[in-house]
Amino acid sequence: MRVLEDLLERNEAWAEGIKKEDPEFFQRLARQQAPGYLWIGCADSRVPANQIVDLLPGELFVHRNVANVVVHTDFNCLSVLQYAVDVLKVKHIMVVGHYGCGGVRAALTDGGFGLIGNWLRHVKDVRDKHAGALAALPSENDRVDRLCELNVVEQVGHVCQNSIVQQAWASGQPLSVHGWVYDVADGLLRDFGLCITSESDLEAVQRQSIEELIARPVRAGRIRG
Ligand code: ZN
Repeated sequence: MRVLEDLLERNEAWAEGIKKEDPEFFQRLARQQAPGYLWIGCADSRVPANQIVDLLPGELFVHRNVANVVVHTDFNCLSVLQYAVDVLKVKHIMVVGHYGCGGVRAALTDGGFGLIGNWLRHVKDVRDKHAGALAALPSENDRVDRLCELNVVEQVGHVCQNSIVQQAWASGQPLSVHGWVYDVADGLLRDFGLCITSESDLEAVQRQSIEELIARPVRAGRIRG
């Protein structure tokens, strides 16, 4: 099949629906984007960034990869980060993991061969760093979900250690970095209270987040409200 007719039809209906509510919406958006947030999340199809936080096109700048990893030498992620911080001047960056992440599971169980195995090495490093805390959990599912949580805390650290973010802080630009975990089983985000707003915050807040996380049952983050 050369044409995905059903998807094109859906697109047309979607655009019509938005124009019905707001006839100028797309013309306005075409002139400029001014999102307030950068979402760094997993590529998993069950974790669609805009829909989860109910934001329209233009409101959320998005970077997604397998297991929401932030690597200091990944030019794709760094380019997104630089554009978001330096040009769009987003005020918030959220690293969003999700429970039951296939990439995290593969990293935990030494799965994922070939190219993906190299990518997941970054999550295996998180696994190895927290091997004791993971080994203390009773089931593989708990260990996967705890590693999803710990991976978010570590990737938040990588965002904050990045020169782009550090330069923004040094110049007085307001910028907060948050860590969340989304549960595909209930559609809700978990906030573990991890929010870093300056370079001097980083070490203490990250250490405290890891200590608090490990002391709690798995999947026990705060759900708003
Ligand atoms: Zn995932």
